[in-house]
Amino acid sequence: MEYIDSHVHLADPAFDADRDAVVDRALQAGATALVCIGESLDAAARSAELAARFPGVCFHTAGVHPHDAATFDAARDVEAIRREVARGAVAIGECGLDYHYDHSPRDRQRSAFGAQLALARELARPVVVHTREAEDDTRAMVEDAGRDGVVGVLHCYTGSLALAEAAIAVGWYVSFSGIITFKRWTDDTLLRAIPDDRLLVESDAPYLAPVPHRGKRNESAWVGLTVARLAVARSVAPETIGRVTASNARRLFRLA
Ligand SMILES: [Zn+2]
Ligand SMILES: [Zn+2]
Repeated sequence: MEYIDSHVHLADPAFDADRDAVVDRALQAGATALVCIGESLDAAARSAELAARFPGVCFHTAGVHPHDAATFDAARDVEAIRREVARGAVAIGECGLDYHYDHSPRDRQRSAFGAQLALARELARPVVVHTREAEDDTRAMVEDAGRDGVVGVLHCYTGSLALAEAAIAVGWYVSFSGIITFKRWTDDTLLRAIPDDRLLVESDAPYLAPVPHRGKRNESAWVGLTVARLAVARSVAPETIGRVTASNARRLFRLA
């Protein structure tokens, strides 16, 4: 089954011991591309090295995660992200709002997110957005950015149907992770509500391994389990979900 892992933290130290084998297993499983997320400027630089090492397979992004928004320095970090885009980053992020953990003050989260949305608009690049328990503010900021022509993805989505629909209405995408394979997942209405042309899948590895690997280090080779769960919810063949989501990822991130 062909698919694209639209969100993997492959530069994470969790993969230091066997990163090449992890990429190899993903390719064996049917992955045709891995979008390696730079959730910090450090991770972005390491992800850029992966993109250079696995051309046409690994692509990288650059941004500052809402957890680290407290130390976001607009002048310094916007320039650093701009440099990563100049050397091939396909998207800005992950960035966004996380009011569940509140690791950074909410006003700092909003300003870091806003600065990255503005940069996405200026550079005409897509945005990878993390949102958790921050529905109203996410909706307002995504709708504003979307009306300004910014496109992006709500990654590892577990939010409301209303927020997903608001994002879709301004041209955005929604990505599902292994969370939808967990026993406590009950929101198949959400899984069915995303239009075919806005659906993405991801591992979010090393986190959130799908059932039956739950609790282990996750990896891109297991995205097929999430694809299969989506296929059940949407009553289509897994191969169809794999193909459609891969084509969406190529369009959103403009992958070569
Ligand atoms: Zn995230
Ligand atoms: Zn992530």
